[in-house]
Amino acid sequence: MSTKQRLRIAIQKSGRLYQSSLDLLAARGLIFLPNGRSLINPCANRPIDLLYLRDDDIPEYVERGIADLGIVGENVLAEKGRMLPIVSRLDFGICRLVIAAPQNSDIWRPQDLVGRRIATSYPKLLAAYLEKENVKACIVPISGSAEITPRLGLADAVCDIVQTGATLKAHDLVPLFTVMESQAVLVKSPTESTRKEEFLPLFTKVLL
Ligand code: ATP
Ligand code: ZN
Repeated sequence: MSTKQRLRIAIQKSGRLYQSSLDLLAARGLIFLPNGRSLINPCANRPIDLLYLRDDDIPEYVERGIADLGIVGENVLAEKGRMLPIVSRLDFGICRLVIAAPQNSDIWRPQDLVGRRIATSYPKLLAAYLEKENVKACIVPISGSAEITPRLGLADAVCDIVQTGATLKAHDLVPLFTVMESQAVLVKSPTESTRKEEFLPLFTKVLL
């Protein structure tokens, strides 16, 4: 069978969604054997290839139809501005994008953020939130570890993902306002593909 006819599913290469994504595929009867450092892993029992990617790149691959399906957080989809069809919500990777500030700050309401610096790796979602709240603040874009920025003096507050809140707490930060609720979702490419239609029932039947 040629590569073209094989279904391609993009999942996170490592990180918080990796194991749950593999577990989900295993629960659908798909066998993927450990394949070292390769970024493409052929399924042992179906014409499917897994693509291991940075989660940030998954929407791009799926939107262009390079991957037929992808498992990614709604937060990443929204930040990238991709309106990909969601096949199902997966009930893992559950988290919130919040604005948090140091315990001793005088920020209580969204209006208190006026003129403040907010560090985030979600600049678009934060900008949309601030606009909705009619708040003019300064967005400081960073690629990760937002929680350390108030202590280092780079920002007055952060806009970051939380699950239990333990990481924020460890940095003396208090979650104040929720920008978005998120969980992992299965998305499908908007492009025509017969290989995709053939396999979709495997996921929709059980998951919806
Ligand atoms: P990559 O190397 O793939 O870019 P990453 O560091 O951007 O990884 P992870 O921290 O592994 O991403 O998180 C992946 C996704 O898991 C997040 O986008 C979010 O949807 C979800 N998630 C769930 N809980 C948390 C949490 N406590 N902190 C961060 N992300 C979480
Ligand atoms: Zn990422």
